[in-house]
Amino acid sequence: MIRVLVWNEFYHEKAEEAIKAIYPDGLHKTIADFLSADEEIEVRTATLDDENCGISREILDNTDVLIWWGHMRHKLVPDEVASLVKEAVLDGMGAIFLHSAHHSKPFKALLGTSCNLTWRESEDREVLWVIEPSHPITKDIDRFFTLDHEETYGEPFTIPTPDKLLLIGNFSGGEVFRSGCLYERGNGKIFYFQPGHEAFPTFKVPEVQSIIRNAVHFVAPTYRQNITCPHVRTINDKDGYVIEK
Ligand code: ZN
Repeated sequence: MIRVLVWNEFYHEKAEEAIKAIYPDGLHKTIADFLSADEEIEVRTATLDDENCGISREILDNTDVLIWWGHMRHKLVPDEVASLVKEAVLDGMGAIFLHSAHHSKPFKALLGTSCNLTWRESEDREVLWVIEPSHPITKDIDRFFTLDHEETYGEPFTIPTPDKLLLIGNFSGGEVFRSGCLYERGNGKIFYFQPGHEAFPTFKVPEVQSIIRNAVHFVAPTYRQNITCPHVRTINDKDGYVIEK
């Protein structure tokens, strides 16, 4: 089983009626529900209001893939929580950052840049183009798919060049955006996926659900080990090679 933790700041869905109407129990619940339909995935959720944001070393030790959605309240996530997430990814935990999580503390800590972009809330239509049709994350997706309305995100997106760019979004207002970006950091795999503005039912779109589900399988750890810096003898030493871990 792949143990998934879906983290949501869970603010808009409580504060704004129109958004509550789309995601009555929070968008984390919608994501957890469609992932739970996969019998290889076991899902838990956590929100900003949980004790210590619902994140601890023990919880992350028992998480294979962390999915993160945040927007207005990134600053309320303690730096220690962002550090725990970063360390867990470097050790091998998979991570998926959705939409406005581009500005979340753990994403920026892992990528090391400002992760800024241009944006506009204007109900643009978005066409998402598949760049890597053979990749496991874009499996089952046609050459492109369309979202009737999505918040516009545009370049420049100040991220490091992705190890693999899987999707490009094209908005009716003209912008293009690197919408599906894959990274490796330490032993961990990271996928950034742009769709998911809270004011639209994006997480109910079948193609969006497929991509997130495929990404869970892809970024799930194949090797999870703390990367240490041991002091060693030569391999010929009779007392053994590693002196200290
Ligand atoms: Zn948004």
